[in-house]
Amino acid sequence: MALETARKNLEALGYQVQTFSTGAEAAAYLDAAIDGKTVGVGGSVTVQELKLYEKLSAHNTVFWHWANGAAEREKAMRAEVYLTSVNGLAETGEIINIDGAGNRVASTLYGHRKVYFVIGSNKLAPTYDEALWRARNIAAPKNAQRLQCKTPCAVKGDRCYDCKSPERICRGLTVLWRPMMGVEMEVVLVDEALGY
Ligand code: SF4
Repeated sequence: MALETARKNLEALGYQVQTFSTGAEAAAYLDAAIDGKTVGVGGSVTVQELKLYEKLSAHNTVFWHWANGAAEREKAMRAEVYLTSVNGLAETGEIINIDGAGNRVASTLYGHRKVYFVIGSNKLAPTYDEALWRARNIAAPKNAQRLQCKTPCAVKGDRCYDCKSPERICRGLTVLWRPMMGVEMEVVLVDEALGY
């Protein structure tokens, strides 16, 4: 099973890993695990679907630009804990993200005591190359559509055209081969489709 393979490989690379059957179970786990902290949240449909901002805000100080505007990005960068999803996860353990503004990918590299990646089963692909393909040709076009960008992928929604549009949202790509030094990193795997 893909999720189990990913779990074993991520643990071998040094990540903490939790696996859940449903998003509701994962959300309840995170709601219990993150308490009394400052929490930054990246732009994430997965986080939105799990209503983690609403849950965590009840007992943490949460900074999320989707809820409270662009200025929250700066505060989120300085939070103790950071919460995001990914655009692709290889079962071999590589974590792939594409970003436009860069706040989300920057926070997965440096600046927080702990980073949580919440990942639905739809984000998994067997290999690094296939996970990269997924990030570029599935996740990014869907995000461009969500943002109503004037890009060929948003119009057709079928693949990445490696566009030269001024509204191109794909500006930077990060691949985590392992947890970054000095940062605790936990992957929360969910056996349900979450986000895109
Ligand atoms: S590079 Fe351009 S065409 Fe490709 S996914 Fe990003 S915005 Fe869409």
